[in-house]
Amino acid sequence: MPLAFEVPGWSVPSSPMGGPGPSNSKKRKRPTNESTESIDIQKFVQQHVDADNASTTSRVKALGKSLVKNTIERKRQKQAEKLEAKKKTISRPKALMPTEKGQKSRPPSSSSTATNTRPTKRPKRAHDEEPNEKALPSIPEESPRLTTLQQDMRKSLDGAKFRIINETLYKSESKEAYDMMQNDPKVFEEYHRGFRHQVESWPTNPVEHYISVLSQYPSKTTIADLGCGDAAMARALTPQGLNVLSFDLVSDGTYVVEADICSRIPLPGSEPPLGEKTSGDGQVVDVVVCALSLMGTNWTGCVREAWRILRPDGELKIAEVASRFTDIEDFIGVVSSVGFKLKSKNEANTHFTLFEFKKIERAGKREKEWSDVLRRGGVLKPCEYKRR
Ligand code: SAH
Repeated sequence: MPLAFEVPGWSVPSSPMGGPGPSNSKKRKRPTNESTESIDIQKFVQQHVDADNASTTSRVKALGKSLVKNTIERKRQKQAEKLEAKKKTISRPKALMPTEKGQKSRPPSSSSTATNTRPTKRPKRAHDEEPNEKALPSIPEESPRLTTLQQDMRKSLDGAKFRIINETLYKSESKEAYDMMQNDPKVFEEYHRGFRHQVESWPTNPVEHYISVLSQYPSKTTIADLGCGDAAMARALTPQGLNVLSFDLVSDGTYVVEADICSRIPLPGSEPPLGEKTSGDGQVVDVVVCALSLMGTNWTGCVREAWRILRPDGELKIAEVASRFTDIEDFIGVVSSVGFKLKSKNEANTHFTLFEFKKIERAGKREKEWSDVLRRGGVLKPCEYKRR
């Protein structure tokens, strides 16, 4: 079972609804998240991944509804349990109730301030709202005043959506990922919200490393960032005089050029003729960076494209999540078979492994040979969340 990414804080507190008592209680409490019991996100995800052939987008939507429904059911159950417990142990409230004679009797152990503990009705505040089945399904995307309950639900929903999208990206061909993002670009945003959340917990991340390394390169060096995400490299390095060409499944309208990096990158460069060893012609790229972006089952197509767009002797820098490798030497073998020579490998980081390859000449390959390379893509396992 592939176990790799963990999203801290994304176990779902089941009981943000450990709060208010039954509706006839005068005492109202804010929802708290005292309970650490977790909603079984895995179950949600499984239900929606396996249940039908629905598209990822609709599965993500269905997941939201299901999460809300389940949360409400848990809340009701908790409330019923609380009420039951109250019925059994209740004594203080009785003592504070007016007696038949209209006096208040104190509980034997009460302190002098006991009367101040009497439940008083305070004005209802917006964020005290008890969750209600009709209101819950729409959790505002960016609201500065989310209740604790809403914040917890937001987190769990984001985490669950991220897992579904992540699985699709790693377990299907890039065309499916491309179609999914094109059909609903919000999926891309949702993925990146989760991705950012994840790498924030890493001691460092590959993009920061590459920004620092590449800022030492001569100005005008042309870098292609394949699977650039939010184009952090271009934002940091373009002002320093480097040419950064950023590609991803969805464009941001500024830095990112839309492309499926595993099938066709809109940059010049040719394959050598069959049986003739060359570097191809027409390339403009000096360095290709693939930072955690060899995702689709056809990721070898991205390495093939990297070779096509790189100048002779160009550099290919790859960073991948350490736990994805079945065997690092096999991975190096697959990349080398496309026309690269390993220059260095760095396994010092606990989260990711870094590789530097140099483009070398090779002969053009027949489609049958490319299919053989593609078939070896299994040397990289999908990246999934730790099962809880
Ligand atoms: N390199 C960035 C983002 C890593 S997340 C960083 O390290 O911060 C992986 C990125 O690769 C995602 O943005 C995803 O959309 C992109 N990606 C995966 N497969 C892709 C494909 N076939 N074509 C284009 N982008 C792809």
